Parts: sequence; C-alpha cells; structure tokens
Amino acid sequence: MQACYENVACYDLLMLEKKKIKEKLEAERDVLVEELRDMGKLNLETGEWEATPEELDAPESDQNDMADRFENFESRSSMMKTLEPRLNNILKALKGLNKESFGKCEVCGKDIEIKRLEANPAAQTCKKHLES
Ligand SMILES: [Zn+2]
Repeated sequence: MQACYENVACYDLLMLEKKKIKEKLEAERDVLVEELRDMGKLNLETGEWEATPEELDAPESDQNDMADRFENFESRSSMMKTLEPRLNNILKALKGLNKESFGKCEVCGKDIEIKRLEANPAAQTCKKHLES
C-alpha cells in the first residue's frame, strides 16, 4: 500500500488497521499476563515477574516431592523468562500505538507498510530502511 495520508479514505484505513492491531495486541497481552499470573506474580518493587513456589498442600511430603516441586519451580522460572520479554514488547508496542509517530518510519518519516506493522506492531522503520 502506498503512503497516502492526504487521502481521507486511506487515513481511515490506517485508523482501522491501528484499531485492529491494538485489539490483537491487547488480546495477546491478556493471554500472556494470565499465563504469567498462573506461574508467579509481578514484583512491584522491581517491575519484574517472579515465579512463586507451589503451595505446600501436604505438609508431610517426602524428599521426592520436594525435588519435584523444585524442578517445577525452575521450569516456571525459565518459562516466565521467555514470556516476560514478549509481554514487554507488546506493552511497548501498545504504548507506541498512541503516539503521533506510530506507523511512521524513523528514518524517512513515511508510513510503514501495513503488512509490516501487522507482523510487527513495534516496527520503527519502513521496509526500505529495515537494514539501516
Ligand atoms: Zn523509511
């Protein structure tokens, strides 16, 4: 699609795309937050997600249970470490959506291709300036 901000129809189209992208991002964000909440909690002091150890449901649990629990905690932690950057990216993109400069190439100031924005809403440059 050509850049055509002067054209009202195209401008509307961009707004529509923006809305669609926003809705998609918000849905992804909600899923990620839910997954993270299942495994841990947000540390408000550091702003980072931390895995929480499983509740001790049986106080008389033996050594094997303890080992299992520890393994589980470890896998949660590593899982959360992969989810957290994804969530941060989405939050960043959502923040950018409200900016005047959203969808504009950082290098040339032209509109970024819609297809590219759909694939990566956090894109900062048009296809031409992708490598620079
Ligand atoms: Zn450009």
